[in-house]
Amino acid sequence: MTLRQQALDEAASVLERCGGHLIDGDWSTDARSIDITEPAQGVRIGAIAGGGVEEVDRAVAAARRAFETGPWRTMAPGERTRILWRAGDMIEARADAIARLETLDVGMPHAKAMGLVCGTAEMFRYSAGWCTKLHGDAADMVMPTGIFHSYTRREPAGVAALITPWNTPFALAGNKSATALSAGCTVVLKPAEDTPLSAMALAEVLREAGVPPGVFNLVNGRGDVVGAALASHADVDKVGFTGSTAVGKRIVQAALGNMKRVTLELGGKSPVVVFDDADIARHAATIANGVFSNSGQMCVAGSRVFVHRSRHDELVAALAAYARGLKIGDGFAAETQIGPLISDRQLRRVEELVAAGVAEGAQAIAGGIRLDQPGFYFTPTVLTAPKPGARILREEIFGPVVNVIPFEDEEEVVAAANDTDYGLAAAVYTGSAQRGHRLARRLRAGTVWINTQLVMNPIMPFGGFRQSGWGREFGLAGVDAYTELKTVITPA
Ligand code: NAD
Repeated sequence: MTLRQQALDEAASVLERCGGHLIDGDWSTDARSIDITEPAQGVRIGAIAGGGVEEVDRAVAAARRAFETGPWRTMAPGERTRILWRAGDMIEARADAIARLETLDVGMPHAKAMGLVCGTAEMFRYSAGWCTKLHGDAADMVMPTGIFHSYTRREPAGVAALITPWNTPFALAGNKSATALSAGCTVVLKPAEDTPLSAMALAEVLREAGVPPGVFNLVNGRGDVVGAALASHADVDKVGFTGSTAVGKRIVQAALGNMKRVTLELGGKSPVVVFDDADIARHAATIANGVFSNSGQMCVAGSRVFVHRSRHDELVAALAAYARGLKIGDGFAAETQIGPLISDRQLRRVEELVAAGVAEGAQAIAGGIRLDQPGFYFTPTVLTAPKPGARILREEIFGPVVNVIPFEDEEEVVAAANDTDYGLAAAVYTGSAQRGHRLARRLRAGTVWINTQLVMNPIMPFGGFRQSGWGREFGLAGVDAYTELKTVITPA
């Protein structure tokens, strides 16, 4: 049996078993349905229940009950550790099957999906460690009226609504869930409507690992229905959102009603700065991968590459050669390095932005066209000479498109790199350690890579400056964001 057929069978089976929503430990469907399209072929492969306000209300009520009266937040932290660790091990044991669902749904190469699924298993084991380590400080308050004993407590934030996008659905849903659950929160997850399959696999793992009913709930459906209802819900305490900046702003407005805590991981237009002393022969593939991986559908895509004028032609040639050599196609084919874009809508958006860039004077040195075949394929594209201020330099593309821009000196490139509404990531390539760290200080981004890109790990915080987000995920900062800090004071 081919990998695709295996994935199609598994998708049919998970849809049959689960169907849509997991609320208070029970799976259910409803009258509405949303088509699921396989991007590699551009064909419908099934449908999933598309919930509404009623499902959101039921899921939030279940999560509230589980938070207030269930065992999750009051059980021995070590017991939560064991459950989350078990979930990580189960994800790893099922990684092949989950990755097949992800390749079917997103189109990404199966090997890449495997890496992301195994990374999510690691995130569960990392988060399992926090359960036993979230505690406060103690201090004496020496006041004119006497001495008071005071201490802080880290308490779970409450019911967390987690809303995720389609580009790496399992990892984003899994990472958020692991963090929220480790803090003692209960969860309602709303995955992207384009890629609902692997979230059901996550829900099944969590249930089998021992997460009690109501602690983890899943409601599928449209963003403007289910997502909006969660963001404005009076009984949701916290929203963890990854997605576009435009929707992030809507979530902030919706969250105002009850002043929910909000963590936002949003878009980017990340700069990559290549100095004259960079080892281009060594790093060209990393720079190319930093924007073409996952067909450019990455929030941290290094889509603006600034290169010292003396090395411009060399880098353009290296990136163009890499782009032309990339094997684009079906994620289930072993040789595929770049899969399709997620949807016809996304393909048309990338086409339109590239056309606008070319109309404004940019040159497509490689790629720049869609593939004339079924599925949503766009060729890896290298653009030179984009007009300063062009849309292609300002707007997030979320496609395999890189702009290469020459610069003369450090001051000029720092100003140009920081000239964006975003601030998610940046990269510097240089042979000088001092210059690398100096640039790391000056670039306005939540993550700065020196002589590398795309490296992430749960131990270090991740998030954006400016319109790339609010707050951080991963590390202590990430789990803190799912807690409230309480101060207790009593006469000593
Ligand atoms: P999106 O903002 O359109 O959708 C994200 C999620 O929000 C989906 O589940 C969607 O259904 C939901 N949603 C849509 N409208 C909503 C509303 N009014 N209220 C509540 N929820 C709503 O994003 P997308 O197109 O799915 O994903 C691409 C975007 O995600 C890009 O901008 C990308 O940069 C960003 N992203 C950021 C990170 C990060 O960590 N910073 C990671 C991956 C993707």
